[in-house]
Amino acid sequence: MPVSAVESTMKGRVLIIEDEAAIREMLGYALVREGFQFEEAADVEQARPLIARQKPDLILMDWMLPGMSGVDYARRVRNDPQTRDIPIIMLTARSDEADKVRGLDTGADDYITKPFSTRELLARVRAILRRAAPEPADAVVSFAGLKLDNETFRVTADGQPVEISPTEFRLLHFFITHPERVYSRAQLLDQVWGQNVYVEERTIDVHIRRLRKTLEAYGYDRFIQTVRSVGYRFSAR
Ligand code: CA
Repeated sequence: MPVSAVESTMKGRVLIIEDEAAIREMLGYALVREGFQFEEAADVEQARPLIARQKPDLILMDWMLPGMSGVDYARRVRNDPQTRDIPIIMLTARSDEADKVRGLDTGADDYITKPFSTRELLARVRAILRRAAPEPADAVVSFAGLKLDNETFRVTADGQPVEISPTEFRLLHFFITHPERVYSRAQLLDQVWGQNVYVEERTIDVHIRRLRKTLEAYGYDRFIQTVRSVGYRFSAR
């Protein structure tokens, strides 16, 4: 069975943005040995067309780069809808805790302080790519007595079929798969309606109201909690 072929296609492509050629070479060598593909850029200028041509699965980015810094570029990558989901590991010579926090704040998923062992770096790369891989979507999700089937779009509450509109279905599905966390109206719009869709934020309130009304008959409307001046949370508590 050609297991190795399957594995190698799943390893992924890494873009290295680092101005020191020796470090690029060391990283590239380590990645290839582990079955990853890689591309390299000495600065942000060189990186841009590479990303535009084919989105990498992960970016390894030096903090200190000539021209635009890695920190500034990480922020741009995060703010661009085309690239916002690319995981970033920041390579930094700084060990200062405040700098690390700043790096993560700007959108890096992880950081590694130079000098680092390639073994440690590869472990981080693998961990991040594992986290970024889309989880196999379960057709049926449930929460307390609620059950949603993503294939048939059927909902049951305590075994009783529930009449629900497609939008309320998507909203409820998002809530059930992301419980216990507060989401702002803007975040719910992004997640449930999708990016680049123009919907007014108060539209969310309308759908929340409808969903609550639908769930009221089963006593599950209390799961949708309004968090004042922030947004909504789905919780059984
Ligand atoms: Ca550098």
